[in-house]
Amino acid sequence: MIGFRKWRIEDRHLSSPYARVRWREREMHARCHRHSFASARFDRRALEEEHEAPHPNCNCGIYAYYEPHARPRAIYVRLAWGIVTLWGRIEAHGNGMRAEHARVEALASSPEWPRVYRQGVERVAAELGIDLVRHTELEWAAGEYGGRLPDSLVP
Ligand SMILES: [Zn+2]
Repeated sequence: MIGFRKWRIEDRHLSSPYARVRWREREMHARCHRHSFASARFDRRALEEEHEAPHPNCNCGIYAYYEPHARPRAIYVRLAWGIVTLWGRIEAHGNGMRAEHARVEALASSPEWPRVYRQGVERVAAELGIDLVRHTELEWAAGEYGGRLPDSLVP
């Protein structure tokens, strides 16, 4: 199954935008980091127990969106956008999914973006051995890597 994600580019690596998690390789396997982003929205009792990620009552797992939100404006905060394939356990939410496993398939770039930013994305893509696609074609390109979660399964 495919999804769309954003990352921060830090020291030529992808990092999760909200958690202190670095993507050292293409594949990422979820672990619960409940202490780093415990949220009052979720059932605290469930959080006390060790569990596999993602857990329905926790907010752990590897996040991905159903749609690309590649806004050129995002380049100014050094965000990278891309396509991931997801597998294993998946928790579906209204605006995205949390998965057990993910693999980066492609990153978005654009000839319209400032050179320094494009080079940052290109360097990460080369290092990971993944494709570069135009940010305006993210949605179309994603079809090369797999299918989407059917609408009927989106809560
Ligand atoms: Zn958890």
